[in-house]
Amino acid sequence: MTYKPVPAGVTPEINLGDSFITTRVDAVVNWGRRNSLWPFPFGTACCAIEFMGVVSSMFDISRFGAELVRFSPRQADLLIIAGTVTYKQAPVLRRIYEQMCEPRWVISAGACATSGGFYDCYCTVPGIDEIIPVDVYIAGCPPRPEAFLEAVVQLQDKIAQESIKEQRTVGV
Ligand code: SF4
Repeated sequence: MTYKPVPAGVTPEINLGDSFITTRVDAVVNWGRRNSLWPFPFGTACCAIEFMGVVSSMFDISRFGAELVRFSPRQADLLIIAGTVTYKQAPVLRRIYEQMCEPRWVISAGACATSGGFYDCYCTVPGIDEIIPVDVYIAGCPPRPEAFLEAVVQLQDKIAQESIKEQRTVGV
């Protein structure tokens, strides 16, 4: 192609059609992250049964890209706590969280995980946010599978707003 100098005062126009798009790195990375969540279910009681319904064909969490349930923290980035957590289990839960890939997110499912539920006793943790940070809470005893799906959508919205630069700075 021969170079033709553009005359002064004339804006050069090149028709590239739809051969490229422009976007932000945050938008692309967050798009990938929020649509490929790998959940690790920490199920200790009845709420875990509801989660089993969520991954079944009836409710089909794969519509949201989060169906690859993993039982190794190294292969998961979404920790779902479904059920009562006791102080004896607390160090185990903390260790699992720390072994997970970063960035990682946490959903607290149901009254027991979120607040200890009706277990007002010395052995029950009154909310897992005493042990690990929580991104989304699900109300209910038990929460319906639709509530789990709503929590996934809320988490996806939250991930879409995250900044890679800030994550690097803060180190979370
Ligand atoms: S919130 Fe209700 S359904 Fe869920 S683990 Fe506690 S008692 Fe069971």
